[in-house]
Amino acid sequence: MTPTMTDLERIRHSCAHVMATAIARIWPDAQFAAGPPVEGGFYYDVELSHRITPEDFERIEAEMKKETKANCVFERVEVSREAALALAHSGALASLGERGVPSKFKLDIVENIPEGEAITLYRNGDFTDLCAGPHVMRTSNIGAFKLTHVASAYYKGDEKNPQLQRIYGTAFKNKTALDEHFAMLEEAKKRDHRKLGQEMGLFAMDPEYVGPGLPLWLPKGTAIVEELERLAKETEFAAGYQRVRTPHLAREKMYVTSGHLPYYAESMFPPMELSEDAGTADAEKNPEGSTSDRYYLKAMNCPHHHRIFAAEPHSYRDLPLRLAEYGTCYRYEQSGELFGLMRVRSLNMNDAHIYCTEEQFADEFRAVNDMYLKYFGIFGLEKYQMRFSTHDPEKLGQKFVDEPELWKKTEDMVRRVLVESGINFVEVPNEAAFYGPKIDVQVWNVIGREFTIATNQVDFAVPAKFGLTYRTRENSDATPLCIHRAPLGTHERFIAFLIEHYAGNFPLWLAPDQVRILTIGDEDDLVAYAKDISNELRGHGVRCSMDISTDKINGKVLRAEEAKVHTMLVIGRRDMDAGAVSLRVHGKGNLGVKPRADVVADLLEAVRSRRLA
Ligand SMILES: [Zn+2]
Ligand SMILES: [Zn+2]
Repeated sequence: MTPTMTDLERIRHSCAHVMATAIARIWPDAQFAAGPPVEGGFYYDVELSHRITPEDFERIEAEMKKETKANCVFERVEVSREAALALAHSGALASLGERGVPSKFKLDIVENIPEGEAITLYRNGDFTDLCAGPHVMRTSNIGAFKLTHVASAYYKGDEKNPQLQRIYGTAFKNKTALDEHFAMLEEAKKRDHRKLGQEMGLFAMDPEYVGPGLPLWLPKGTAIVEELERLAKETEFAAGYQRVRTPHLAREKMYVTSGHLPYYAESMFPPMELSEDAGTADAEKNPEGSTSDRYYLKAMNCPHHHRIFAAEPHSYRDLPLRLAEYGTCYRYEQSGELFGLMRVRSLNMNDAHIYCTEEQFADEFRAVNDMYLKYFGIFGLEKYQMRFSTHDPEKLGQKFVDEPELWKKTEDMVRRVLVESGINFVEVPNEAAFYGPKIDVQVWNVIGREFTIATNQVDFAVPAKFGLTYRTRENSDATPLCIHRAPLGTHERFIAFLIEHYAGNFPLWLAPDQVRILTIGDEDDLVAYAKDISNELRGHGVRCSMDISTDKINGKVLRAEEAKVHTMLVIGRRDMDAGAVSLRVHGKGNLGVKPRADVVADLLEAVRSRRLA
């Protein structure tokens, strides 16, 4: 058990003891193992002849309520090893008293506590547990709780050990916080990108033919992908980036040089063995097979960009050189780790590498940060934090590349930029990458889900490994610094995040179905009017469709609302005669009759400015 806990973790872990107390009252033969706080709540592992199901929760919770009402003190008692062993043998640990059979898991835990380490018990009322703490003061400090589900788990996670029932619950300071938590979970379930992605026809998984973790972007999802790429391309163009394109694979030498091999090999797809000139005279000349080679699917875009830098000679006048690409990478995630679009094996990254001199670094870094902030504004992300990971001087040459001067200089520069920009950041020592400090950007979506969008990294080691140089003003060779950045992360993770952030109700510029024209009736002149508006909008690149069937207008509206079409233009005879449309916006309802020209102009402006609402 970790001896440091947040206030909420104390409440939750204390609630685990209270739950164990209640279970021990109902089923005295219960044998408890471990009961830590976890993300979102707590659990306690128990071995019990009775199979606990959610039907038992009400009864257990009623017993728990008695314990919290009794307002018992959580009393900490330090005991000798002998005393702890005696209690365990008598069955008095994690129970209400001696039982004639040992508290077998607690006995095992006591036996494994290193010699010389303090052994502590925690008592609440007549329940005694072996525990390092900490706890809240009294059982009544657990303001509100609820049991949530049961799973099974092996003791100590080892399948050779007995299988236990893992009972989960959660607890909060008060009822309001508990209710908010469950409301949020409910909302998160509704917004689950896997569910919405399928309902909205954004992407598909085809493990049988394509493979697990390799998403297919359907036309509607591709519309979002392309809008994001358009945003990135416009923004990067304005910021002086140049676009490049690279193959999806490279020779083994590339990844040995970059340092991905052998250390990162587990996360890469196994290599393809190529025998370049098999069957030709050349191959016969090389009986050792020296023409054969291994190719790897790329897991990162950086090495390819480094080779683009190396493809031409550079002088200081070319710097900073900013190379950008929506690059496709492949990572061999364990199949058990795959999760919707959040964890996949093929990913399209909003990548770029900035090669610059030390003097240019601060300005370049600042510009990258500004780009992050600009994007947050566009997507309506109000809460974010940057985690600035720095090196530990004692680990130079082991965990961190041995460049003490450069570490200090770049970290000082990064820190200064962050402070000057008034950005919300925390500094975390000893967490930098091997080759330079990095910044992880965490954002929270509207339902409070935390998400790491991207990493912004400084690299002063790898460009040297690839022998990258530029000609200085003094006509000597120098190695550039490299900034890796990917503010929009990967399409896969970022779109998953956006689906949940917007609950599928994308702003107009991102919406797969931007506009649909619904006719009241199907007379020829009405249909012609609809087609004319549609042609005008499509001519300006707006994704516009029509529903000109004979169906009743209410049915058409319902269909469009269900498909989350952003804007509906309803037209009847009277609208047509007036050169108008009835405007309806998804989630906002009917906004009234407006001149066609005004509506079209406003739609184009909303798309152009990437308006949020
Ligand atoms: Zn405890
Ligand atoms: Zn990179």
